[in-house]
Amino acid sequence: MADYIRIRDLEVYANHGVFEEENRLGQKFLFSFELEVDMKRAGITDDLSDSVHYGEICRKVYDFTRAHTYHLLEKLAESVSRMLLMEFPEIRSLKTEIKKPWAPVGLPLNTVSVEITRNRHLVYLSIGSNIGDKRAYLDQAVTELDEHPMIFVKKVSDYFVTKPYGGVEQDDFLNGCVELETVLEPEELLHALHEIEGHAGRTREIHWGPRTLDLDILFYDDRIMDTENLTIPHKEIPLRDFVLTPLAEIAPDFVHPVLKKTIIQLRDKCRRKSEVW
Ligand code: ADP
Ligand code: MG
Repeated sequence: MADYIRIRDLEVYANHGVFEEENRLGQKFLFSFELEVDMKRAGITDDLSDSVHYGEICRKVYDFTRAHTYHLLEKLAESVSRMLLMEFPEIRSLKTEIKKPWAPVGLPLNTVSVEITRNRHLVYLSIGSNIGDKRAYLDQAVTELDEHPMIFVKKVSDYFVTKPYGGVEQDDFLNGCVELETVLEPEELLHALHEIEGHAGRTREIHWGPRTLDLDILFYDDRIMDTENLTIPHKEIPLRDFVLTPLAEIAPDFVHPVLKKTIIQLRDKCRRKSEVW
């Protein structure tokens, strides 16, 4: 059973639209929201700081909508939803509807609207380095992740020293795992990770070779995907003690969506196997 705060038909005059006239003259937009918020605490304490301030939400939506100009309602709905999910961590999930009563269709209609439902995604990353000041590279990566406007860092594991893997002669690795929440889609997140790797001077010369910083997506909710750029869950998880050990620190009970085993179970199995080898 879930709790909701609803806001209906907040009116904002703004300049979104595909036509130049819409951008120039502006028109009316009506926002409705359904915010899933756990209200049990506020229901007992009677304290606003235990809930979400809907006045503040309306103000943020108003300012955001007037500060940007988009072509599409889809883009406006997505951007407003992401902004709210990042500004108000108490919102667990959010339904956003935007109506455009004056849409220039040239035919009589009541309103045109779009409606989307969004939430933050739970992601686990593996972070590793084996050149130079490894700890500093990992710390810097965590800082940059946390400073990203669409990412919250929730947990960081200890860093573990690991022997190199994959048969290339190189220095030891330092490895850890990070739990984060984000409104970015997997491909967008990968792009953000590549940028952060780039700031650490990462170049891609030898596969499995030395690197200042490697950021891999291990899990993204319980999503399963396999495209040219992205395999989620990361393929090597069950084989890598250096991933499973730090991950077991921060997510011992997370269930691998394909293997249907917890991180602890996978770690123990991985260790038993490496003893045999
Ligand atoms: P690796 O991490 O395998 O040592 P790279 O860091 O050079 O190698 O990554 C090579 C490519 O792997 C990336 O450009 C990315 O497109 C792809 N890739 C596939 N799945 C993932 C994932 N889950 N996380 C990160 N990169 C991935
Ligand atoms: Mg990588």
